[in-house]
Amino acid sequence: MIRSYTSFPLDDDLVDRILTLLPDFSSLRSAIRISKAVHQVFQRRPNSIIRAVAENLVGPSLPQALRVARLQQHSIAKDKRGDFTLDELPAEEIVQNVVLTSTDAQLLAKNAPVVHDLEDLYSWRNKDRTSKVSKLSEHESVPFHRAIYRFWAYQVIFGNQLPEEYDDEDEEDFHDDDYDELYETNHEKRVSFIKSIPDPEHCEFLRGVKFLGETLAWVETATGLHPNLTFEQYAMSFGPKVVLDSYRTGGTTFDTLRNGRRVLFIWQTLPEVLGVNYVDWMLAPEGQVPFVTQVNGAADKCQRCDAVKGVELWNISNFSHLKGMAYVGSTIAADLPGRLSENVYECRSLHACVKKRAFSWEIMMHQMFNAAEGWNENDWLCIDCISAFRKEHLMGWWVNRKLAGGSLLLEDCWYGYNCRTQVHKEAHASKLNHLCAPTRGDA
Ligand SMILES: [Zn+2]
Ligand SMILES: [Zn+2]
Repeated sequence: MIRSYTSFPLDDDLVDRILTLLPDFSSLRSAIRISKAVHQVFQRRPNSIIRAVAENLVGPSLPQALRVARLQQHSIAKDKRGDFTLDELPAEEIVQNVVLTSTDAQLLAKNAPVVHDLEDLYSWRNKDRTSKVSKLSEHESVPFHRAIYRFWAYQVIFGNQLPEEYDDEDEEDFHDDDYDELYETNHEKRVSFIKSIPDPEHCEFLRGVKFLGETLAWVETATGLHPNLTFEQYAMSFGPKVVLDSYRTGGTTFDTLRNGRRVLFIWQTLPEVLGVNYVDWMLAPEGQVPFVTQVNGAADKCQRCDAVKGVELWNISNFSHLKGMAYVGSTIAADLPGRLSENVYECRSLHACVKKRAFSWEIMMHQMFNAAEGWNENDWLCIDCISAFRKEHLMGWWVNRKLAGGSLLLEDCWYGYNCRTQVHKEAHASKLNHLCAPTRGDA
């Protein structure tokens, strides 16, 4: 037994072993600061300890994660303008024989939470609706991480950078204008990059890309702020962190950037690798296979209608996700009664309200459930039952919301929500209140 310091109660090998089990670099840093004895053990073999901690932090996808970290430091990938070949860039194999630098460690530590948080989101939506922390098994999680990191590598080489990611603070260096042109220049390299992914792992890569695209589509539906098809493509070109940030902030990142690229960041490259159009691929059986092999609660039923819906069940714990769901978040006005869903004046103000970034669907649903008898916000409901619920309670909630917001009470139209005139005469729609039951006509 060797002890560096006799007063220190653990022998050096044990300290070494403990250091290699630490989950991340900040724990390692704290441990080294604890005592000189620990520091001395670390100094004996820093490289293998740092590598062990990197493996704990990143997991089996360390080769892919390290490549991203190395690319982020690479001048060719940073500049993008120069003529380069893929062979000049760091490959996944470097993990086998490089010593991790402190910059590597910093970047690994900065990137890992992004991939972990994306996994949490993926798991919540696809594996276990009751948990916002990932429930993916290792078998499911490893391919997910590998895919996201590989897309990240693709993005660092070929994608866009946010102005703040540039080393120098010269805003004029933002290469946004050259982007379309560079896309063409690097076309062959993009295809080669994707083709270089081992064949059995092609599908998982595409699934990762699909998930990131779906997350951005969710943001578009939730906010209605970027209602054009190229938003998703453009946002993808900034990489996984921007996708995650967009999900969290409702796409604020893009308020200051120009939108409307015509090039499809990765969708256009994929057909040459797949042999089919990406949309066709997604619809084909192989495009439908998720990372998840086993869904928790797959046989769970709607507590209202008994339909087996598994992960597609909703209650107060995940109502927030409805905001960006296609056909749910996008068409909330369709759940207004009568002809109100064709009343442009009313629908416009309802949509403007519910699509605000800060607007919480969880609170809206909570308020509706509070006002409803015979419904419980904790019950797990299918989307059809949610829609049935909203048909009963959305109008009442909207009236209260408008009154709470200081809107004046307009005189009720006799024909209420069934009024025909509200559909084609905006002046009439805005002059009288139609959020009420009819007292004449179709009543
Ligand atoms: Zn149901
Ligand atoms: Zn009317």
